[in-house]
Amino acid sequence: MKLTAFFLDGLTCACCHTENTLWLDLDAGTAECRECGQTAVTDRGSGL
Ligand SMILES: [Zn+2]
Repeated sequence: MKLTAFFLDGLTCACCHTENTLWLDLDAGTAECRECGQTAVTDRGSGL
């Protein structure tokens, strides 16, 4: 189990519209849906 993967509570997958299935992978900088496997690149590090 990767220590750099976090469960994204309260988010809905933009692809399959399932809630609470997204995981944030800090190593890859991506968020992956466990339900449909959709992966999206996050925009962390810019702004905030
Ligand atoms: Zn999905």
